[in-house]
Amino acid sequence: MFKWFGKVNYTPYTKVSDFAQYLKDGYFMGSRCKKCGATSFPPRADCEQCMSGDFEFFEVSGRGRVHTFTKIVAAPTGFEDVAPYIVGVIDLEEGGKALAWFGDSIEEGDIEIGMEVQIVPQIFEELEEIKVYYSIERLGTTWSKVSSAH
Ligand SMILES: [Zn+2]
Repeated sequence: MFKWFGKVNYTPYTKVSDFAQYLKDGYFMGSRCKKCGATSFPPRADCEQCMSGDFEFFEVSGRGRVHTFTKIVAAPTGFEDVAPYIVGVIDLEEGGKALAWFGDSIEEGDIEIGMEVQIVPQIFEELEEIKVYYSIERLGTTWSKVSSAH
C-alpha cells in the first residue's frame, strides 16, 4: 500500500522499513541523500530536494524543541481507551520534525513551546508483530521497552 506525500514524493514502505528495525535497536535514523546531501526525518526514500532515490541512513540524536503541541480529548477510533493524550511536533536538532506522543516523564502542565526534549524509541514487544514508535520525554531520558499493558 503506497501513500502519496505531497505532489511528487512517496515513500515505498520497503525502502525505509529498516527505520523500524533501527528503532527496535534503540537508534533514531534519518535519511541522507547520497546525491545532494539533504537530510530528512522521518527518513524518506526519495530526496525532497533532487528526487534522487539513492539514500543512506544516519543516526539523529532525538534532541529537539517543542514546536507545537495539542491535547487529544476526542480520540480517533482505536485510541479511545488512552484519551486524553498529548501529541507534539518537535523541531529536531539535526533538522526535520517528529510528531509524537508525550511520554510519562513530562507533566502536562510543564509542557511549553520551545522547551528542550528528547525523542525516545518505545517498543511493544508483546505484540505478535513488533510495534515501534517514539515518545517525547525529558531531555536525557534514555530509550526504554514498554510493556503492552497501558
Ligand atoms: Zn538529494
